[in-house]
Amino acid sequence: MRSFDDIPGWLAQRKQEHLLRSRNQLQSAQSTRPVINGKEVLSFTSNDYLGLANHPSIAAAMRAAAEQYGVGAGASHLVSGHHLEHELLEQELAALVDREAALVFSTGYMANIGVISALMSRRDTVLEDKLNHASLIDGVRLSGARSLRYRHNDTDHLAQQLERAQGKKLIVTDGVFSMDGDCANLCEMADIARASSAWLMVDDAHGIGVIGQCGGGLVHKLGLSSEQVPLIVGTLGKAFGTSGAFVAGDKSTIDYLMQVSRPYIYTTATPPAIAAASRAALKLVAGANAARTNLTERIQQFREGIKTLGYELMPSYTPIQPVVIGANEKAVSMSEQLLKRGILVTAIRPPTVPKGTSRLRVTLSAEHTADNVEYLLGVMEDLK
Ligand code: PMP
Repeated sequence: MRSFDDIPGWLAQRKQEHLLRSRNQLQSAQSTRPVINGKEVLSFTSNDYLGLANHPSIAAAMRAAAEQYGVGAGASHLVSGHHLEHELLEQELAALVDREAALVFSTGYMANIGVISALMSRRDTVLEDKLNHASLIDGVRLSGARSLRYRHNDTDHLAQQLERAQGKKLIVTDGVFSMDGDCANLCEMADIARASSAWLMVDDAHGIGVIGQCGGGLVHKLGLSSEQVPLIVGTLGKAFGTSGAFVAGDKSTIDYLMQVSRPYIYTTATPPAIAAASRAALKLVAGANAARTNLTERIQQFREGIKTLGYELMPSYTPIQPVVIGANEKAVSMSEQLLKRGILVTAIRPPTVPKGTSRLRVTLSAEHTADNVEYLLGVMEDLK
């Protein structure tokens, strides 16, 4: 866009290419059966993997904390906004992922840009998976560090790229890739990182709560220590059903981030009631083994069913199950047809995913029943 006058033309062009983003309006609680634009639908779109976004005991914890502490935090953490609820949440999150300490951020986006920009500078190099989340990419931009991308999950390419790196070296990867649903080869990456004195940072936004014992996430499940993975980022707006995020690591690393991370320092703390809600969620997450088992069963059911129908799936064993359609127009039209049959599934298009790989991003939740998945498969069969 060369001039501000080009904005309407830009929008028209996007529309013509079926790339214009739009929003549905949610008029109920988030769930597998939300009311969207005035109509109840069966939704396969949210990251509320354990069905906690509308859980009564989390809502009650938030209400009680709002009654007791009010709504606004009133200041940033380092001024006077840091509350007992934030402090306890940090301790409990650190324990969940087996690290010494944690620092809570307002969102995952802020955690990622806040960690990378605090640790890295123009003299340093960040090695990034080509499919990393936008917030990780933006964090590197903000830091000014040199960015070397490696092919998706390709550890040989990562090792090659490391040979070109200068200064401090940070390898950054999604734990579970947000648009493909597959997991990073963390064990191999940790070995490579160690051999070249690089640090490994894992954004486990979609793994926390879903994967591993007590929902400790992918790093925890693989038993990777803090020497192997010095930085874990987790988000609370997905499996936890609340809002916010955290970074966990050694105490000195967390202390350092608290001193220098601008997206941590220069923003109002999240309301203490949100931290209280996240603490209530954490208790439920830790005890949600039955929900995680149901989720695993639904994932298997969906994968087997959709494969039998001849659709292209990704190598994902997580609740993110993208069905690759290819052309933007086709992905959008299938999403529209699904909606006509009462099913909400989002079509994800470039630039969020590479050109030619537009997809229906099906996400499963522990709240889905076998009948829900059967219904989705039936409609997908009709659309074939
Ligand atoms: N990392 C990943 C991998 C994500 O998918 C997301 C959310 N889409 C984020 C970070 C950002 O988290 P938040 O929504 O809390 O800002």
